[in-house]
Amino acid sequence: EEQDSLSVTEWMKKQNVPDRVNDEVFIAMSKALNFCDPDELSMTVVLTALNRFLQERHGSKMAFLDGPPNERLCQPMVDYVEARGGQVLMNQRIKEFSLAEDNKSVQKLVLTDGTEVEGDAYISTVPVDILKLLLPDPWKGMQYFQSFDSLEGIPVINIHIWFDKKLSTVDHLLFSRSPLLSVYADMSTTCKGYADDKSMLELVFAPAKEWIGRSDQDIIDVTMEELEKLFPDEIRAAEAQQEGPSKYAKIKKYHVVKTPRSVYKAVAGTGDIRPTQKTPIDNFFLAGCFTKQKYLASMEGALFSGKLAAEQVTLAHQRKTIAAKEREIINN
Ligand SMILES: Cc1cc2nc3c(=O)[nH]c(=O)nc-3n(C[C@H](O)[C@H](O)[C@H](O)COP(=O)(O)OP(=O)(O)OC[C@H]3O[C@@H](n4cnc5c(N)ncnc54)[C@H](O)[C@@H]3O)c2cc1C
Repeated sequence: EEQDSLSVTEWMKKQNVPDRVNDEVFIAMSKALNFCDPDELSMTVVLTALNRFLQERHGSKMAFLDGPPNERLCQPMVDYVEARGGQVLMNQRIKEFSLAEDNKSVQKLVLTDGTEVEGDAYISTVPVDILKLLLPDPWKGMQYFQSFDSLEGIPVINIHIWFDKKLSTVDHLLFSRSPLLSVYADMSTTCKGYADDKSMLELVFAPAKEWIGRSDQDIIDVTMEELEKLFPDEIRAAEAQQEGPSKYAKIKKYHVVKTPRSVYKAVAGTGDIRPTQKTPIDNFFLAGCFTKQKYLASMEGALFSGKLAAEQVTLAHQRKTIAAKEREIINN
């Protein structure tokens, strides 16, 4: 944490690490970890990642889902919840955390269609930028919630391109040092569910601040110029979107997904300001990758924060800080 005041580039300079190490390793690593360049990223993030890689047996392991996330990740979780008597409401958004009269606990959730949901304890997992919009007025002056002001999602673009040929690639996630591209993979090779004799690249485009407002076509054009450098014998940007036969790969279709506020931005000097899962509100807890946990802004971090939040709910139940009437319901 003490290294947080320095960006990755500043830290490398201080340690007399040659510039080429920054260019060859840390541009790719910074963009993969937080969608920004090493001159912005807090050194704490890189040290945390390296620490996990070195200390945990499978810390540096990378893996792909074997099919679409909806089927292979989300549906099994829904099945798990439903098999235990739970209910998952789809296409429903929370409009308001409605408070009890004393403003000290949540009484119910109000959804955008007007439905009301009551619970014993409430765990919010909405991203931090949405949570800031949902905060009830009486909470806004509390120090715990005020610290959210400095947490802000970073813009990023995700691109899917289907080609008419198989590109030469490897069965792994690849880290690019391109000024615009970050990690990418040929899903037709890495992911069993998308196996094909024609390539489908999924790419992270970052840093995206200057590009998030541009048209999809502009983004694809500049992406193809970068891909030409990565696949010099297989891609010609000028030919990729033209009609007619070519020895180079052509785009069959593409999809550009813009996320103006994705995971929280960990810039140097902001410190670890992530909130704990326990909040000053007795029956309201937080989870999500932006909350305090030992992994960075990642799926592992999000999952782990959920476990920490569940632990806090259990502790609150044991300490009887969840209302007595509601405890009875839990016990039953
Ligand atoms: C382009 C991109 C690539 C990434 N690649 C990787 C990777 O390779 N590996 C990795 O580990 N991580 C990766 N990440 C990071 C990872 O996606 C996040 O860290 C993780 O999804 C965070 O999970 P979360 O549950 O905290 O938040 P989210 O996944 O953002 O989930 C928040 C949920 O809240 C819902 N929501 C929003 N508003 C409301 C509302 N009003 N009411 C109810 N629900 C609401 C949203 O619909 C969403 O489902 C990537 C992120 C991006 C953007």
